[in-house]
Amino acid sequence: MVFFTGKNAIIRLFYYALAYTVYSPKCSETFDQEYDYIVVGAGSAGSVVASRLTEDPCVKVLLLEAGGKADPLSEIPAAAFLLQLTDDDWQFKTTPQKRAAGGFQNRQLPVPRGKVSRRGPDRIGICGKCYARKVLISDQKVATGVEFEINGHVYTVKAKKEVIVSAGTFQSPQLLMLSGIGPKEHLRKFGGTLTHSANQKIFPPLSKFFFKSKKRDRFVEVMKACVYLVENTTAFQKIGAKMFQTKHPGCEQYKIYSDKYLRCLGRNYVFNLYHPVGTCKMGNPNDPTTVLDPELKVKGIKNLRVVDGSVMPTIISGNTNAPIIMIAEKASDLIKKDNPDRKNCNPEEQYKKEYSWFDWFKK
Ligand SMILES: Cc1cc2nc3c(=O)[nH]c(=O)nc-3n(C[C@H](O)[C@H](O)[C@H](O)COP(=O)(O)OP(=O)(O)OC[C@H]3O[C@@H](n4cnc5c(N)ncnc54)[C@H](O)[C@@H]3O)c2cc1C
Repeated sequence: MVFFTGKNAIIRLFYYALAYTVYSPKCSETFDQEYDYIVVGAGSAGSVVASRLTEDPCVKVLLLEAGGKADPLSEIPAAAFLLQLTDDDWQFKTTPQKRAAGGFQNRQLPVPRGKVSRRGPDRIGICGKCYARKVLISDQKVATGVEFEINGHVYTVKAKKEVIVSAGTFQSPQLLMLSGIGPKEHLRKFGGTLTHSANQKIFPPLSKFFFKSKKRDRFVEVMKACVYLVENTTAFQKIGAKMFQTKHPGCEQYKIYSDKYLRCLGRNYVFNLYHPVGTCKMGNPNDPTTVLDPELKVKGIKNLRVVDGSVMPTIISGNTNAPIIMIAEKASDLIKKDNPDRKNCNPEEQYKKEYSWFDWFKK
């Protein structure tokens, strides 16, 4: 691998080993039956929420994450692509595309989604390889805990204050549906028990995202501009650049680099840029397409919020990770503000309780 060659290879390997040792997740070995908050998913949003909530000294948090000990490669941002189609990837695929993705097996596009597990502070229980099966919801429509699976065993754990679903854009709505929250018809079709109905529009089939004709024409124009640059500019001619002359499978019937050929390429060799959002839309509670109110609470259910990329009402124009982390920061403030016991929690007392050995040492 290029990363480990060259004269600095030893130093790089040392940093790599160090980073892996320091940042590897430390999962708890025993768990309580009840926590103040249960966070499902230790990804970009969930790890922030869980960590921020434990800043309040009286708060106990359980973080459930389906992924286990991460591959050391996950410490190197540029190597993240090597983790695709491994056990650290959920290995999702789109539905077979009718008019696109002809260049892929069964016309299905890969949709990589990582599984992660992070280190945490003292008042947090981290359960790695813990797959949340459903959020437990009482007859009064209050989220009371989570049912999860670990090593083939199923357990339930109670949440005294709130359950926060941060399972990502695909799995947060899935978990809500498994818990009986979602579009009525969809739940009935799969035999789910309906707890609360939400509008069908929030779960659009993926195939609808791809290739409206206007956008396709824009792609063709952009590709034509690239072909023009290679064939007509001195910069490219100087280095002897030439357009590839073998036709791509599936588009052989068209004259190479004609509009029709480029349109065929655009349709068949699509690629997703890993930024899905909007499956649990946040917004005006009176809008039937919203799942969450502006405080990210699931409409109609108490003590249940969703915090991750799924809450974005529309896709943003840039990359999603940093904004999702900021959503999690904002959500943490909202959750902390709603904690009725916060003012009764005396950080000094708590500190003394936890660190009494330290005081003893100082004497
Ligand atoms: C290959 C790739 C490259 C990317 N590159 C960039 C980039 O360069 N810049 C950028 O800004 N963004 C990038 N992104 C997007 C960014 O990673 C996501 O937008 C962001 O991580 C989403 O955060 P999230 O909290 O919504 O979900 P996630 O980070 O996906 O977290 C969800 C977590 O929940 C866990 N989970 C799911 N279901 C369950 C369950 N039932 N029980 C327990 N745990 C569960 C999952 O294992 C996962 O760890 C990339 C994404 C991918 C896939």
